[in-house]
This record gives sequence, C-alpha cells and structure tokens, in this order.
Amino acid sequence: MFQQRTHTCGELTKKDAGKIVVLNGWVDRIRNLGGLIFVLVRDRYGKTQIVFDPNENKEVYEKALRLRNEYVVSIEGEVRLRPEKDVNVNMKTGEIEILATHLEILSQSEVPPIYVNKDEEVSENLRLKYRYLDLRREKMQSNLLVRHKVMKASRDFLSYNNFVEIETPYLTKSTPEGARDFLVPSRLKPGTFYALPQSPQLFKQLLMVSGFDRYFQIARCFRDEDFRADRQPEFTQIDIEASFVKREDIFNFTEQLIKEIFQEAINESIEVPFKRYTYDEVMNKFGSDKPDTRYGMEFIELNEYFKETKVKFIKEKLTQGALLKGFVIPEKAENFTRSKFDELVEFSKDLGSSGMIWIANSDDIRSNIKKAAETEIIKLIEGGIIKKNDVMLMILEEKDKVNEILGQLRVHIIKQELKKKVGFDFLWVTDFPMFSWGDEEQKIVAEHHPFTMPNLEEFKKFKDTDPLRIKSQSYDLVINGYEIASGSIRIHDRNIQREVFKVLGLDEKEIEEKFGFLIEAFKYGVPPHGGIAIGMDRLVSILVEEDSIKEVIAFPKTASGSDPMTGAPSPVSKKQLEELNLALLREPIDKEER
Ligand code: ASP
Repeated sequence: MFQQRTHTCGELTKKDAGKIVVLNGWVDRIRNLGGLIFVLVRDRYGKTQIVFDPNENKEVYEKALRLRNEYVVSIEGEVRLRPEKDVNVNMKTGEIEILATHLEILSQSEVPPIYVNKDEEVSENLRLKYRYLDLRREKMQSNLLVRHKVMKASRDFLSYNNFVEIETPYLTKSTPEGARDFLVPSRLKPGTFYALPQSPQLFKQLLMVSGFDRYFQIARCFRDEDFRADRQPEFTQIDIEASFVKREDIFNFTEQLIKEIFQEAINESIEVPFKRYTYDEVMNKFGSDKPDTRYGMEFIELNEYFKETKVKFIKEKLTQGALLKGFVIPEKAENFTRSKFDELVEFSKDLGSSGMIWIANSDDIRSNIKKAAETEIIKLIEGGIIKKNDVMLMILEEKDKVNEILGQLRVHIIKQELKKKVGFDFLWVTDFPMFSWGDEEQKIVAEHHPFTMPNLEEFKKFKDTDPLRIKSQSYDLVINGYEIASGSIRIHDRNIQREVFKVLGLDEKEIEEKFGFLIEAFKYGVPPHGGIAIGMDRLVSILVEEDSIKEVIAFPKTASGSDPMTGAPSPVSKKQLEELNLALLREPIDKEER
C-alpha cells in the first residue's frame, strides 16, 4: 500500500514549516545539482519543491536518481523554509521545500511525446492523440476548471430560481435546427434509425405542455455539419425553457445567469442589462448579426456627400439606387500603404464587390478617387467624418450587398490591423427574419427554427406573398463578436405552427410524418412559452480567452471530425453491420489520422 498524501502540492506555505507531510503527484521537473537533487512535484492544485540530500538520507537520494519526468511518486518529508535567496514569489508554495525522508515510485513514465511542463507549439494531432498528457498542462487544467465552474454556477442559479433540470433522450427522432442529423441504426427495428438530437428543442417545448414551467438542462447536442471554422460535431448547451413568459423575462433571467457565471467562474463583475439592437440595426451599422462593438467602426451612409459628384461610375450607380457606405478606421493612416489598399481592393472584389474606395487623411490626402473627387473628399474631412490620420473604406453596391461586404471588410480589418481589445462586449440582437432563402436547399428555410413565433401581424400579411419580409420573435446574445446564445418565443398554437410548416414547403403528409407528435401535443392545452440555449463551449472559451473551443473541451474532435486518440470514427465488423441490417456501398476510406 502506498503512502497517501496528507496535503496537496499546492497547499503548503511557511506556516507549515516543521511538519512531516506526504505528497502524491507527478514529477514535473528535475534539477540535479550534483550534490543535491531538486524535484518539483505536481498535482492539480500546484507544485511543491522536494529536496533530496545525500547527507541527510543517502538511500532516498539514490532512489531519487532514478526519477524521470512524469513518474508518479509518493514522498514523505519535512517542510522547511527555503533560504531567502531561493524563495519563489510566483509560486504559492515558493517559500518552502520538503526535505525528503521517504520516496516511493508509484508508476514510471516513458518520455512523454509532448511537453507537459511547458507550452510548446505542438501539432494539434499530437495533442489530441495524447490528450490525457495535454490535459496535464496547467492552462488546460485551469480551462476545464473554469468550465466546471460555469456548469456549477448555472445549475446553482437556475435551481435557485425554480428551474428544474430534466434530461431528454439522445436516441430520438430528428429535432431539426437546420443541420444534418447524426443517425443511429436500430437493431431491433431493422432498417430504421434514431437521430441524435441537434438540440432538445421539441422535448423542452413538450415539457412546457407537461407543466414544468421552468426547465433547464446542460445538454449535449449533435450536428453533422462540414467543419467550418471552429465547430464540433457534439457540443454543449445550457438549454432553458419557460412558460407564461414574455421576451423581457427571458432577457432578464439570462442576463442574471450570465452575470452570475462571470462572477463565479472568473470573478468578473459585469453590468446588466445588455445593449439591444434589432437585426436590421446591426446589419446596417456593422454588416453582421454578431458584431464586436468594442471596435466601433459603425457604417456611415455617404450618398449625400456624393449627390453632385462628377465621378461617372459613382454617379451612375447612385442613380440606379445603389448605396455608398463606409467606415472609418481611426488614426491608422500611416499604417496603410498603397499596397495594403490594393490588397483590400482585391479582397473586397473576392467578396463580390465591383471595387472599394479608400481615403487616407495623412499629411497629404491619399485616395484612389483623389483626382476625380477631391471636392467630395474635402467635404468629408471638413464635415468631421474623416479626421486627421483616419482611414475610410467605402463600398458602393445595392443595400444588402453593401452591408455584407463592408461587414466582412470590417472583420478583416479588426483581425489584421487592430490590437486585440480586452474586456467584454455584450449585446442582444432581436427581430431576426423568420425565414431566409436556403441556397443549399434551394427553398425557403427557417432562420432560427420552425418553432419560433413569427411577428404575427407580418405573418398574416406576407405569409403567402413575401414570407422573407416576416420578422420573428427571436433573439441572440452576442459576446465579443460571437453568438453565445440563441432563443425565441415559441409558437403555441397548432394552426400557426402548421402554417409555418407550410411556408417551409411541407405538405400535410410531411407535417404529420415529421411533426405529428408535436401537433398532437398542441391539442391539449399549451402554455405560451419561450426559451434560449447558451453555447457553453464558446462561452467558456471567451472566459478563458482562448480562440478555439477545442481548448475548453476535454476530448474534442479534429476538423475532420475524428479523434486521433481513440481512432473514432472507425470501421466496424461485418457481423455488426449484419446485425444492423446494413451493407456498405463503398469500402471505408482510411483516413490519415487513424
Ligand atoms: N434550440 C435552439 C438552438 O439550439 C435554441 C432555442 O431556441 O432555445 O439553437
């Protein structure tokens, strides 16, 4: 039996001097100074320095010569004060060390394939293959600890406020959120499939029908999407639904919850209520439905300044009804060389614009329309739109295109040219369009999901003629340019629900087949209800200032959806396939990562 720890490695300080203690942990670092061996022993709580001194205990010293990094040890010894010159003020245990009197090697370690005790650039594949070692690193330990605190704060806050945590099934029928389902073949009913839930959406609504007027769940969601940017096939939501509520109630308790999370997880006190914008406002001002407003650079309409312009292409486009809009990058003129502007022009063309106008108000005014539009440029400067040393970028296109292209330019400039801002930027975006045109599907799709309550007046007016004009009672919470939460007031009337399905192109038979159980439930007394789901992975990544959500998930997948550690997804045996009544059309592709 090994000697169990009396303390953790992050605990002992000078007030413990003289105590005989036992520590258990991993060898973090070894310094052999010839006469003495210093070993840092690490556990989740910190690190403590151990001294092996041959003059004090020769046998233990000799055993210590066998230690290597990442061995697991149990050490007994006496706490003593470090000599003044060796005190490490950056370590909680930096004033003491343990003079070892007993050493047990509990487990040996081969040389780890990735560094545990320092942050080194290592390929993601290697990090994920040896994730259990990667997770020993201090930053990863701290990230997962913050994640735990977020879950705990959520559970505590929501439970205190009368929300009930209820689990909903993973093996279910498709609950559409607009993505592709992961399917699980059923053995007992050959030829049929379960779908893994894209979210608990329909179940949480059914729980409202059951009378659980305040529900929450820390729920895993599954979406089989191509891996754009920083997505994971499974991710976690703090999923919430409530009955007899208005949008204001949902904003209110979500703000309180977020406030609590920031306080408990990172000790940051934030201000509520959050700012609000409608979807139309953010699109017009920032060209994005999730702007990071810390960077300012709101769009300005400039048609008025170019009303009488002699520049032919501007004049022509303006008379055709185009919009000229731009934004100012303050005090950056000297950073923008001609070649940088040329690159930006190319970038904006790649985004689908016919060009980009730029003005730099440096000592001598520079612009690609300087000769032709000097008067207009001077008007912009004298009108205080472009100040000394500012840069202005402009796009001239029809309304939606202008906003979209400028929006992407703005994000590009933020990433490439501006210093990363600190702090947090919270905002609600409300009144999203109810429907949009799905390029992939080549039909009208629900912008949020089909259970969102439309703006009823607009719905009545435009559902048969121009459904894309209808707004919905939905909202997103945006933090630092990321969509952190999304929700809506739901439809609780089965006739409206049916009509929404119809706008989406479903006929009676499909409605019955896919959503019959919901329409059926809606026959039996449905309270008005609404809710929200917070994307926990992204929220935690913001709290710990990581760009990628992989840094806050214990065992994430690579961009191609695989796990280099377990080898998932992997081929299965013929027998397993037969049991499931399945045959493969093609042999499995052997991915490199496997
Ligand atoms: N189920 C929605 C989603 O996953 C959130 C909600 O409407 O509550 O985006």
